[in-house]
Parts: sequence; structure tokens; C-alpha cells
Amino acid sequence: MADTAGREQVDLEALRRKYLEERDKRLGGNRAELPEFTGDLARYLVDPYTTPVEREPRRDRVDVVVVGAGLGGLQIGAALREVGVERIRLIDTAGDVGGVWYWNRYPGARCDVDSLIYLPLLEEVGGPLPEEKYARAEEILAHARRIAKHYDLYDDALLQTTVEGMEWDAGSAEWVTRTDRGDLVRSQFVILANGPLTRPRLPAIEGIEEFRGVSFHTSRWDHAYTGGEPGADPTNLHDKVVGVVGTGATAIQCVPPLARTSRRVHVFQRTPSTIGARDNHPFDKDWLASLEPGWQQRRMRNFIEVLYGGYPDEDLVDDGWTHVWRELFVNPEFRSLAPAELAAAKELADARTMEAIRRRIDETVSDPATAEALKPYYAYICKRPGFSDEYLDAFNRDNVTLVDTGGRGIERVTPTGVVAGGREYELDCLVFATGFEANEAGSSFTRRIGFDVLGRNHVSLAAKWTPGLATLHGLMTASFPNMFVQSAPSGQNTEPANFVHTLQENARHMAYIIGEVRRRGARTFEVTEAAEEQWVATIVDRAVDDAAFLEACTPGRRNAEGRLEARSPANRNFGGGPLEFYALLADWRSSGRLAGLALEPGGAA
Ligand code: NDP
Repeated sequence: MADTAGREQVDLEALRRKYLEERDKRLGGNRAELPEFTGDLARYLVDPYTTPVEREPRRDRVDVVVVGAGLGGLQIGAALREVGVERIRLIDTAGDVGGVWYWNRYPGARCDVDSLIYLPLLEEVGGPLPEEKYARAEEILAHARRIAKHYDLYDDALLQTTVEGMEWDAGSAEWVTRTDRGDLVRSQFVILANGPLTRPRLPAIEGIEEFRGVSFHTSRWDHAYTGGEPGADPTNLHDKVVGVVGTGATAIQCVPPLARTSRRVHVFQRTPSTIGARDNHPFDKDWLASLEPGWQQRRMRNFIEVLYGGYPDEDLVDDGWTHVWRELFVNPEFRSLAPAELAAAKELADARTMEAIRRRIDETVSDPATAEALKPYYAYICKRPGFSDEYLDAFNRDNVTLVDTGGRGIERVTPTGVVAGGREYELDCLVFATGFEANEAGSSFTRRIGFDVLGRNHVSLAAKWTPGLATLHGLMTASFPNMFVQSAPSGQNTEPANFVHTLQENARHMAYIIGEVRRRGARTFEVTEAAEEQWVATIVDRAVDDAAFLEACTPGRRNAEGRLEARSPANRNFGGGPLEFYALLADWRSSGRLAGLALEPGGAA
């Protein structure tokens, strides 16, 4: 219920108890370990979008190998061009550039971050500006292709190619990259831009290999079966029963089109998402045409200033993200509060926001039991927020069932369907909207990228980072000369709501260092042990003590799936947030000292 000022009334004590009860349901539920994609499961990784092309193995030499041709790798390519690097080789398993936007072609796929700040390099590349506030996946993929063309990144790229290993050759001071196509590529520099969420996650669950219907992960959508093209509704499902496992950011986008076009849809829910209002709309064409040069950097900057405490006068993006952040985290009313009052004010603001989200469900979903089951009971930021104006409505259709598993997850897959809550649901098609490996116990950076890297004296990156990350700025690590990690995936860097912004700042930093190493006539750079120790200490010292908060959260990516004990204190991002982090990198560059890097002479000046 809301008070006269429109604020939700909440009983905080009761809510805290309820949140813990809900968390405990999930902790007691399915926490299956991560599956290997071997045997029958290997088919879940096959690329359905591009016909495999045979080619001869490449044995050659380039300036920089970049693993990953997504928005991370592409922005690195662009930044390297700006400092005059000629031979840039993007390598990617996918059949084209675009990364996550190559793979995610499920119906309804869009980016839920303002398109004018999410699509990078819009001013530099030219071409059409996004038509809507939240861009469709195909538009983003088309823009990724434009970036690759504009910066001439296709000719040297190796697509449909998976890196299997990288090794530093001290004799020639070069990296040697091996691929599954038999390539052996030598390069002065390597950059791992594999992305944070590249390895699909499937529940390692009994019977998953035995399903006789059609099943796939959302990042490998089977259009041949469902009909319809990327961006369009399925056309072949009118007589099919479809099961969707998962209710995260992907499911909330693909359930509405499935609901519109399938005979029946069962949505298997383990934990409900928060569903904020989306309010997508076309941009005013005259307004787009009136944007003054430099508008994109200003808008990107403004977004993080609004979200992370820069308190700018204007909120240019002005959407669900900025509204909630201004309410919960950077509320001007909080600025004068003492720490104890601040904690209480934040908890109350969070509870009110969550009550409003739950009330919206009651107002939208007509069946009270379904509405109740869709309500999220945890603090807002425990999980990645979701936004949709269609998802909740889908449950008002007669052909859509919410199967709430009470935090337990699906129990078993059978040859003909899925068992949940002790009942079997017969299915023609089973869609796994179950996300990607992140930081679960048992996962690691090198497991997710699929190969190990051997640095100086054959030091293994997997072994080096087992006890915890050790880097400078999350981008470089000692014993691995001339190597960068496009880092936010692993930590010791920063990961704001507009992830593409961090990829851009990191790309700029890496390109600066490569440019300087070459300009100063060095053949290698390497992080010193002292600089690395100091950065790890900074990460640990500046870490926000969020253990109690995360402990009370339902399991998810933020709290290592409820296994906080598995989290190394070093595997955090910089506690000062993105604004301070970007400033820190900019200061480091403008000092011109390359502080913390040892350069070895001998390159071409
Ligand atoms: P998520 O990891 O967010 O969600 C996976 C879903 O699968 C969760 O609901 C999870 O439940 C559920 N699940 C996992 N295992 C089981 C199981 N055994 N039984 C039942 N349910 C299970 O993956 P998404 O693909 O939705 O999103 C991945 C990331 O991609 C997001 O973090 C988001 O950042 C990004 N994304 C961004 C979009 C954008 O517009 N910018 C759009 C789509 C995705 P539980 O919650 O209980 O773990």
C-alpha cells in the first residue's frame, strides 16, 4: 500500500524475515555443478547461424591478436587503429563479429540499456543512429559489423576459429597462438577480450541428454525449428508445447513472443526477476538530427555520473536504471546522513522500491496465485534488475503457465518433458534460458575462456590466478609480458550498468600502452611484481564490505551463487566505482610514466 506521498508502507522486520525464508528455499534447491559440453551435450554449443567454411591453417605474424570479436574486441580494434597499429587479428568462435549479439538471436532480444550509450562509436562510425531507446539485437549486430568494416578489421580476422592455447616465446619475444583450425599465429601483443558471459550454462541435471524433443540454449536459437527470423516472432510453434527454463533477463524477453505464437508455454521459475517498467519508444528523428558533435561521450559520461554519484544537473538517459539508482543509491536526500542513518534510509528506500515492483505484479497479473509466485523477495540489487512491459502480461494468457519450483529448479528431464514439483510437463520443445557461467564455485576465468595461457617461464595463467586475481588495473598481470585482459569479466577493474563504457575505457588504456611501448622503441612491457601487489592491496583495501548484504541475498551472480566463502578477497572490482576508476586510468596515462610497467628495449621505434 502507498502513503499519501505515494510511498510504499513497509514492515521492515517482516520483510527481512521473508527475504531470508525465500533465500533459504533457493539455497536448499538445485545447486547442480556445471556441466561439460561433451558427448551429447556438445550439440548445445554448435553454431546454428553460419555454415562452417573450410580453410587452410594460417601460419603468420601480426602485431596484435585479440581473442573475441564482440563489443570488447571491436572497440580494442578501433582504439588500436587510432594509435596506428596495422595488423590486428580478431579471433572468434562465432561466424561473424558481434560477440553476445552474434549469439543472442532469440525472439524479443534487445539491449535494455539506452541504445545511444550502448552502441559504441556511433559518431566515429557514422551510419544510422538507433531508432528506438532500446535497440533490437539485429540492429546491434549490424552496428558491430559496421565497426569492423569502418576500422578494417575483417581482412585479418579469423572467424569460426577457437583459440586452444597461447604461449610466450621468450626467444623471439612474441606470443604464439594456437587454434582449432591448426593456425599458429605469432604476434607482439595479445589481448583476451573473451567477454564475461560466453560459456552457456545448462543445468547439470539428470536426463538432460535423453530429451527426444527439440532443445537448445537461448544463445543458439533454432530458427529452423521455431520458424521466424531473428527479430521476428516464431512461425512454426502454433501446435507446439514449449518449456522455458529460467526467468532472468533473457527469459523475460523471449517469453512474450513465445506466448504469442505457441500452443502452450510452461515457464519454469526458480527465482523471480524484478520487472521494472520498460517504456521503450522511438526516438524523435528531429531530436536525433539535432545532436551536437561529442554527444555520445557526453551521454555515456552523464549516465555513469547519474548512477555513481556525480550528481549532474541533468539526467540525459532518464530511464528505469537512472530512476532506481537515484532512488536507492545516489539519492540526494542521503547526502547529509550519518552512516547509521544512511544504512537505514537505503534499506527503507529499497524496500519501498521492491514493494512497488510487487504491487505492479498484482496490478498486471490477474490470477492471484500466479501474481504471488512472480513476486521477487530480495533486495533490489541482489540480482540483475529486469525491465519489461510485456513479460508479466504474458501470464494472463490461457496458454501460458508459470511453474514455480519454489527455489528448487527443475528436477529432471525425461525423454518427453521436464519434471518439476514432482509433476512431469510434456514438451515438444525445451528452451534453456539458463544464462552463462560467471563466478560459480567450480568456474574460473580460464575455464570460461576455454584455454590456458603460458607466460614467461611457462607460468600458467590458470595456476597463477587460482588463489585469487593478481593484476594491475585488472588489465595486465606479471609474468605475462605484452598481454592484456579486457578485464571486467575477471575483476580488479569496474563493471557498471553500461558495460560497454568500461570496455571502451579499457580499450583506450590498452591502446595507449601499446602505442607508447612502440613509440619508445621497446619490444616488451611487463607489470612489475611490486605494482601488482600494490593494486591487489588497493582492491582489498577499497573493497566495500558487502558480505552481510550479499549473505542475505538470494543466490545469484553477485554472491557467487550463495557461496560467498568461495570468493577470494582479491576477486573484486575496484571499490571506488567506475567514475573514480576511469579517472585513475586517465591520470595514469597523462603522467606519461607508465608507472608499474617495466619496458625492455629492442623494438622498432
Ligand atoms: P541469468 O543467469 O540472468 O538467468 C538464468 C535463469 O535460469 C535464472 O532465472 C536462473 O534461476 C535460471 N536457472 C538456472 N538454472 C536453473 C535450473 N536448474 N532450474 C531452473 N532455473 C534455472 O541468464 P540470462 O541469460 O537471463 O542473462 C544473462 C546475462 O545476460 C544477464 O546477467 C544480463 O546481464 C545479460 N542480458 C542482458 C540483456 C540486456 O538487455 N542488456 C538481455 C538479456 C541478457 P535463478 O535466478 O534461481 O538462478
